[in-house]
Amino acid sequence: MVKKLNSLFLMNNTINLMKSLLEDSKKDSREHGFDLCLGQRDRILKAENPCKGDACGVDMLGECKKGETLVGNYHTHPSPFSSRPSMQDLDIGLKYGISCIGTVKENDITCYVKKNNIPYEKKKEVLEKISKLNRKQEEHSLTSEDVEEIYKIEYKVRKKCFHKFKIK
Ligand SMILES: [Zn+2]
Repeated sequence: MVKKLNSLFLMNNTINLMKSLLEDSKKDSREHGFDLCLGQRDRILKAENPCKGDACGVDMLGECKKGETLVGNYHTHPSPFSSRPSMQDLDIGLKYGISCIGTVKENDITCYVKKNNIPYEKKKEVLEKISKLNRKQEEHSLTSEDVEEIYKIEYKVRKKCFHKFKIK
């Protein structure tokens, strides 16, 4: 089965790799994933730089092959409690275009694909807010208002800035 994400194609072998990494996460409770790269000649998404371990989600974004463009990533959320995209995931989606997430909790795979009509200023504003909150999260200095804001932004950005494609 081939899946179309707006104008890009996710081929069967990539979908199967997504599924098998999700199965791995169920077993070892770790994050797994890969970068999504796009070649010059076709509109087919390619899985590059497969990654196993806890750093996959955020630090995975690597290099694509020469001539290819980085368009996002796929990674799993092993937590049995939460399946929501993190602020970092939305950040990657907004910057590169695609954030695909496989969740153990829901046993599903969803790709968030950035809408093309987000005004530049709006995108800049959202990215600034996200990076401010991410910084505070890293410093462990989030206030309860910040946590509330994260929920609000996550909900709004997910609904307004992305097309949602169910893969599994
Ligand atoms: Zn994530």
